[in-house]
Amino acid sequence: MSALVEADAPSEIDDRVRAAVAAVPDPEYPDVSIVDLGLLESLTVTETADGVVASVGLIPTFSGCPALDMIAGDVRESVERLDVVDRCDVTWLAGPVWESTRLTGAARTRLADDYTVVLRRKDSSLLCPVCGSDAVIDQAMVGPTRCRSVAWCPSCRNPVEVMR
Ligand SMILES: [Zn+2]
Repeated sequence: MSALVEADAPSEIDDRVRAAVAAVPDPEYPDVSIVDLGLLESLTVTETADGVVASVGLIPTFSGCPALDMIAGDVRESVERLDVVDRCDVTWLAGPVWESTRLTGAARTRLADDYTVVLRRKDSSLLCPVCGSDAVIDQAMVGPTRCRSVAWCPSCRNPVEVMR
């Protein structure tokens, strides 16, 4: 082990890498971290002959989401900016499947307040992020992106977006 790695305990490097990943926002929701969205699944830091390599495993919210390449590039750039990491590998994992339960409370609140984005509950019902009504009606299967669809709240007469 080099003096550098001994000085920085592995867990401390892990924390710094995690913070660098958390600094990356979702391209569609610029004030919501991808970590708060529940995309970060695994993170390992290993010392190799080529230097310190961080391996970040992410899961997509929706397998066809076109923003995946952008997110992976942003994560790599953010982590490689750390002086304790020489290289960052980002992998999109096939599983586990993303579920809305992976969102943190902060992300949930922000999506509802800033973007009127609502999540489908386990029983497939929808709760309006604007007025709290549970009478939201699915309107169209096609939304602004493949990750989202559009619904309508008859109670407050607002369109809301549904994250699939
Ligand atoms: Zn409403």
